[in-house]
Amino acid sequence: MLMREMSGWRRELHAHPEFGFEERRTSAFVAAKLREFGLGEVVEGIGGTGVVGTLTRGGGNRAIALRADMDALRIAEQSELPYRSRNPGIMHACGHDGHTAMLLGAAKLLAEEGGFDGTVRFVFQPAEEWGRGALAMLDDGLLERFPFEEIYGLHNAPGLPIGQFQTRSGPIMSAEDNFEIVLSGVGGHAARPHVGSETLVAACALVTSLQTIVSRRLSPAEIAVVSVTELITDGTRNALPGQARILGDARSFHPEVSAGIEAQMRVIAEGIARAYNVEQSVIYTREFVPLVNQPVQTEAALEAARAVLGAEYVSVVSEPFTGSEDFARFLAHVPGCFSFLGNGASAPLHNPRYDFNDEGLIHGARFHAEIVRRRLAVG
Ligand SMILES: [Zn+2]
Ligand SMILES: [Zn+2]
Repeated sequence: MLMREMSGWRRELHAHPEFGFEERRTSAFVAAKLREFGLGEVVEGIGGTGVVGTLTRGGGNRAIALRADMDALRIAEQSELPYRSRNPGIMHACGHDGHTAMLLGAAKLLAEEGGFDGTVRFVFQPAEEWGRGALAMLDDGLLERFPFEEIYGLHNAPGLPIGQFQTRSGPIMSAEDNFEIVLSGVGGHAARPHVGSETLVAACALVTSLQTIVSRRLSPAEIAVVSVTELITDGTRNALPGQARILGDARSFHPEVSAGIEAQMRVIAEGIARAYNVEQSVIYTREFVPLVNQPVQTEAALEAARAVLGAEYVSVVSEPFTGSEDFARFLAHVPGCFSFLGNGASAPLHNPRYDFNDEGLIHGARFHAEIVRRRLAVG
């Protein structure tokens, strides 16, 4: 029954995807459902389009939060499904429709059946994909207005069988940093390179040197990635470029490593610019911070998953993933755990043919409810 209902909500959300901070229809849908379930307090507009629902049972004064993300991506869906996206160029390619539906399912379950003593905050965040929604909610006073002591989140995992659950204590998702290096010189005639100080050869040397940050500057024990993804110049067929822009993305699991990558990048850019007689500037931004699960909450999540899914379906992953998650921002303030739930043999995340597998919904809803009953145990 709940399974069919959740599938209906999920497909409704899937058909009407909205980009980060534009989740107006989605958040109105979420708020209406939470009110329908009889939650004591449902507040919209937290951090733009975020929603927080509060459910209290018993006299306990502990509070925990469960979080789902609501935003979709600017990807044109390739699908013949009856519930395919009605918004051209936008689709739920990361399964946030499913995450929202299963947290709504948990809210309904807990509102109907209780079985806990304390307060549950259902946190529906906007703009996960940009890495801005969690901060927007925190800046809007999330923790002061709706205090909680722990937080839990789930993401679907294509390729992992339905009903399987994975997590680990410690770092599980990486930081994502972006960089843009601009080299400025004097372009000119392709036949007379010695007259100016063109930037293309310098840019190529720079791209090659950036490869040494991970291979020669970081400890081999650290996991990190520095990827140059774009090299853009203003040169043309017979004119040497006066400007080159090098853009890319770096991943790491500890703030010191991220700081080390930035520092080394600046050293390399300065050295190359001097060697090639050009000017340089480096812009280095931190889009996502590393997601680090706390041991106590991770153990609780594993126990809850074993109780709901069976021990043979629950595993501890040995290595972190180099993807990033905005959930990490909450963990800078309260301990918690982020986990993965199988989505079966679906297309990968962010693929135009991806679809959330509705068979996973009930597992997600039950897991969320179980964690509440364990962390806010009666008696
Ligand atoms: Zn995503
Ligand atoms: Zn996602």
